[in-house]
Amino acid sequence: MSDKGLVFDIKRDASEDGPGIRTTVFFKGCPLSCVWCQNPEGKLFKSETDINGEQVGSWMTVDELLYRLLQDKPFFTSTGGGVTLSGGEATMQMDVASQLLQRLKAEGVHTAIETSGFFKYDRFRETMLPWLDLIYFDLKLIDDAESRMYCGRSNTRILENFSRLLKNADIPIMPRIPLVPGITATEQNLRGIAAFLDQYNVKSCSLIPYNPLWKDKLQKLGIESAYNHSSFMTLNEQRSCANCFTS
Ligand code: SF4
Repeated sequence: MSDKGLVFDIKRDASEDGPGIRTTVFFKGCPLSCVWCQNPEGKLFKSETDINGEQVGSWMTVDELLYRLLQDKPFFTSTGGGVTLSGGEATMQMDVASQLLQRLKAEGVHTAIETSGFFKYDRFRETMLPWLDLIYFDLKLIDDAESRMYCGRSNTRILENFSRLLKNADIPIMPRIPLVPGITATEQNLRGIAAFLDQYNVKSCSLIPYNPLWKDKLQKLGIESAYNHSSFMTLNEQRSCANCFTS
């Protein structure tokens, strides 16, 4: 079992990644490939070099991570904060994430994860869930074809994992929708996700505002964006167009 994780950032004093003052660990590597990815430096499961020659991603042991994280323990304790695992997708590195969560819980630290929901459920349930206090679960696209097109993966596993967690986990599962113009922030998608949540009697969901700064991050990595929100045509619009051409 590996005790090293590939991490591209550790953000201290993070107030948006859960209750209280938190430190967020950003694991590198993601199984999805969203065209608007807000953390493009977290997509690939390997170290990279940006256009300034700076290394993006470092291998860190659990001991090294814990040492860094516990420096802020007094702030966690006094504010009800803790540590949040993010990415990329932290569940891509379940071995090290599991060890880190167990060590944090042994120290009495509140733990949370931000996940795309695309993970192997049984392994997650065994290795990570027992040491988590809170899950932020992203729901991006309710239409499977759109999910494949814009995120590179079917949403079937994501939706199944969400419903399994709701039924089986005894910690809060907080759904979130990133609002991406022309893609996730469409009336049809939002209504579809609302109907999905309603099936499980989930009454609240966070909406994450669109942040265009990810394009600067892409440029720094020397990668061109495939997404331009002002000119991007949604799959529905393409279908309408297709209908226009065939009618
Ligand atoms: S799930 Fe998140 S980190 Fe992964 S590609 Fe999509 S936006 Fe980027």
